[in-house]
Amino acid sequence: MTKAHDPLPAGVDPCDLPGHGRKALSLDEARARIIAEVRPVAGRETVGLRDSLGRVLADEVRSAVDVPSHRNSAMDGYALAGEDLPATTPAAFEIIGTSWAGRPYVGEVGRGQCVRIMTGATLPQGTDTVVMQEHVRVDGGQAVIEAGHRVGQNVRAVGEDIRRGELALSPGTLLRPAQLGLLASLGIGQVPVLRRPRVAIFSTGDELRPIGTELGLGQIYDSNRYTLQGMLARLGVEVVDLGVVRDTREDTLRAFEAAAVQADAIVTSGGVSVGEADYVTETLERHGSVGFWKVAMKPGKPIAFGRFGEACFFGLPGNPVSVMVTFYQLVQPAVRALMGVVDVETPILVRAACQTRLRKKPGRLEFQRGVLERQPDGTYRVRSTGHQGAGVLRSMSEANCFIILPLEQGDVEPGTEVEVQPFAGLA
Ligand code: AMP
Ligand code: MG
Repeated sequence: MTKAHDPLPAGVDPCDLPGHGRKALSLDEARARIIAEVRPVAGRETVGLRDSLGRVLADEVRSAVDVPSHRNSAMDGYALAGEDLPATTPAAFEIIGTSWAGRPYVGEVGRGQCVRIMTGATLPQGTDTVVMQEHVRVDGGQAVIEAGHRVGQNVRAVGEDIRRGELALSPGTLLRPAQLGLLASLGIGQVPVLRRPRVAIFSTGDELRPIGTELGLGQIYDSNRYTLQGMLARLGVEVVDLGVVRDTREDTLRAFEAAAVQADAIVTSGGVSVGEADYVTETLERHGSVGFWKVAMKPGKPIAFGRFGEACFFGLPGNPVSVMVTFYQLVQPAVRALMGVVDVETPILVRAACQTRLRKKPGRLEFQRGVLERQPDGTYRVRSTGHQGAGVLRSMSEANCFIILPLEQGDVEPGTEVEVQPFAGLA
């Protein structure tokens, strides 16, 4: 990253500065640079198990117990000694009692005897095998069992799930319902987690008005803060909403400073192109440091990434669709890295036959919006949501996937197979 100490002379394109280059980065390169730059938050706290959902584990968890702690039955059936199983002809066993889950049978089981046993119940002394009840004919006080069973069947061994001392969860694990259950099964009620990152957001633009006010000529409602707030909330970070910032040098710098003192990351929208009223990149360049600011993708080509004070900075474009596309492709992985998530998820991609003709110029990676459908024969097909303008938020709202068109791809004819990223895999 370069640091510019001197103000830019008027009319100088930040792209012309040494180290930035004119060439836009590929999305993969941009993502790799961001991940290399972002460090997980250092702070930590201990929270109750229920509150740990969506948080990131700070320490490894080793089991202090064997799970299960006792040999128990995987079925409702009859427990007996495996060496007693009949080899050829059916045999009858005397039923001497019942072992319930949580209420074990306490006596010893001898030859020719068995105990009625429920799923999860401890295997009584003298038994090592369970015959499921569907395979048993009960005749008076006797259980008649056919040949063909295996010694040790339907029994869950001590420590089969997790052994005492074994690593149950690694640091950096995102805690989902399965991990909450696992921690509970180990008897852990208090969980060490990383601090939740704070992400400050603001919108830039003199045309933006808050909801609840009348729109004047040329004014629009600020929608980007709502999509950003939604996407960030789904990731489980704390959002600091700094509202709308006017298109002046002073207001922009003041907003940067207010954001940097209270947040680990700053995400803004608008003002990153090279228009007359675009102060975001300039402010980052003059008072922070710019990592890059052009990515060869559509929508979302001007996107500024860098650092301002201690915070990492993402200046997203102003167009509402560009905000969402760049957030999912670049900010989301960064936020996960900031949260300290180690198990980086691979995006779910599907190949689908495209039903509509798609216009596409070679030279940049495109994320068009589509509707993906599963066919009765198990294959997928996708159609465009129509008008793909970067300002057309309806194209996002009606879509359930991105149609990803690679760099060198030209127009897509109906029937061609394309790669699709379902929104279902996105936070
Ligand atoms: P800019 O990148 O600032 O030039 O903005 C590009 C386009 O996005 C313009 O049409 C803006 O009016 C629009 N835009 C910018 N910010 C927002 C916002 N917060 N909500 C809705 N539209 C916006
Ligand atoms: Mg603007």
